[in-house]
Amino acid sequence: MRLGVLGSGTAIPHAARGAAGYLVEHAGALLLLDSGPGSTRRWPAMGVDFERVELVVHTHHHVDHCSDLAAILFGRNVARPRVAERLTLVGPVGHAALVAGLDGLFGRGVHAREGDRIVRELGDGDVFEHGPFRIEAVEQAHPRRNPGEGGALGYRVRAGGRTMCFSGDAGPSEALGRLCAGVELALLECSYPAGRETRHHLTTRTAAEAALEGGVGHLVLTHFYPECDAVDVRAEVRAAGWRGPLTLAEDLRWIEV
Ligand SMILES: [Zn+2]
Ligand SMILES: [Zn+2]
Repeated sequence: MRLGVLGSGTAIPHAARGAAGYLVEHAGALLLLDSGPGSTRRWPAMGVDFERVELVVHTHHHVDHCSDLAAILFGRNVARPRVAERLTLVGPVGHAALVAGLDGLFGRGVHAREGDRIVRELGDGDVFEHGPFRIEAVEQAHPRRNPGEGGALGYRVRAGGRTMCFSGDAGPSEALGRLCAGVELALLECSYPAGRETRHHLTTRTAAEAALEGGVGHLVLTHFYPECDAVDVRAEVRAAGWRGPLTLAEDLRWIEV
C-alpha cells in the first residue's frame, strides 16, 4: 500500500501546499481521501487517470476537504469516452445531503446517471469494505458543518496486511488514540506550531503525543497552516518526544505504508 499526497496544506493559498487530498493505492486499486479545492487538478501529475477513481472517501464537510467533489461529479459527466465504473462516495452522516446539495446547486452538470453513484454514510466504529480496502471510521473531535450532521471522521485503512490511519481534521482526544493504535503509518493533521493550542486541530506537540500514545510505526504530518512556516516543525515534534520515523508531507509525493 502507498500513500500519495495531493495537497499538504489548507484552504489558505500557499505557494507549495494545496488543500487536502490524498490517494491510497494498493495492487492497482485506488482510494481518494478528501477532495479539497484544486486537488483533482493534481491527479495527472501523480499518474492517476480520471476514470480510475471510483472510491472517494471524505473525512468531513469543511470546504478545504471536499469542495472538489463537485468538480469530480461534473468531470465524470463531461468525460468522453464515458467513465464506466460506478462511483462510490463515503463520508460522515450528512454526506448524502451534501451530495444532494451539490445536485441542487449545480444542476444537471453534476447529476448522476441511473445507477452511476452510491453514497454510504458512516458513523463511529462503522466499517466499509471496497476492493482490497477495509475502511474503519473513528469519529474525531472537530466541529461539524451543521448541528444535524455526524461528526468529522478519521479513518483506519487496511490493505495487503498493512494499516494506515488518516486523522482528517481532529483535536487531541481519546478517539485520536484509538484511531492511531498500532498502525504502520499515521497521517495526522498538524495545523499549528506547538504554542498555538486548540481543541479542534493538532499542533506539532499534540500530533507527536498522539503518535507516541498510539505506538505508530511512521508518523507523517500534513495540513500545515502557514503559521507552521515560521517554526522548525521537525524540531518541535522531536522536542515533544517523538523519536520514530517522521515525514513532513509534501505535495505530489508518494510514501510507502
Ligand atoms: Zn475541518
Ligand atoms: Zn481542514
